[in-house]
Amino acid sequence: MPYPENALDLLTPYFPVFSTAPASTNVFDPSVSAILGGSNPVLLPDEGWPRCGSCEDNILIPYIQINFRQKVGVEAEPGHTILLQVFICAEDDCADCFGARLFGAFDNAFLVRVIEVTVESANTAAVEETRAGLAADRFFIPQRVISGWTPGNPEMLHEAVNNEIEYDDPQYLEHAPAPGLKLLGFPVQGKYYSSIIERCPKSVRPEQASEHDVRCLLQLGTDCDIEDGPGVYATGNTWIEQCTVHPDVLSMTIGGDW
Ligand SMILES: [Zn+2]
Ligand SMILES: [Zn+2]
Repeated sequence: MPYPENALDLLTPYFPVFSTAPASTNVFDPSVSAILGGSNPVLLPDEGWPRCGSCEDNILIPYIQINFRQKVGVEAEPGHTILLQVFICAEDDCADCFGARLFGAFDNAFLVRVIEVTVESANTAAVEETRAGLAADRFFIPQRVISGWTPGNPEMLHEAVNNEIEYDDPQYLEHAPAPGLKLLGFPVQGKYYSSIIERCPKSVRPEQASEHDVRCLLQLGTDCDIEDGPGVYATGNTWIEQCTVHPDVLSMTIGGDW
């Protein structure tokens, strides 16, 4: 595992602030930072609703769509919006296909991507058309609006992969990675680990080699049940890793004590 050379370094996580009475449920709206779940994916012009490559043509459902007003290393054109989107295959809140395929390091039961889009160009017709053909009881993660992200207690590399500190050390207990949905910080892990991309495939200049690493961009969920969780609990410890030099290189990862 990469991460800081000093395993005792601390990183600040950012936790979602959920709106109790959202003024809007549109991810383009200035009051909205992210939409968790729901059935309203933003699609690119001419694009169809993404589907699972493993199930019989099942749709992938939105897990989260985050509006990155502060750019993630990519400059958007004026009027354009940058969204991080995560879709997963889930027939119900067990999300068995997603979990099983990711465990096997297959990348066809989810979609993680960063898109640049305008409100006008988003393909809402394809969304409506697909939704009209779905069963009335089709599972979606209950939609919640996130208005912003608030910094939390600084975190240390998880004890399962940290050789520098014991799990019961008071210093660790004070900085153990938090479960549940969060941006940055350290993920809750396990002894084992399966990631779609083991190593960033892009090359770097020699002077960048020492900083060519991955970090936890977004922890989706952990396998313990927590209040205010995303609504799909049984997916193990899942998080998205991002290359520290190439912000567009993202990898879905699952970790646990199998
Ligand atoms: Zn599937
Ligand atoms: Zn890279």
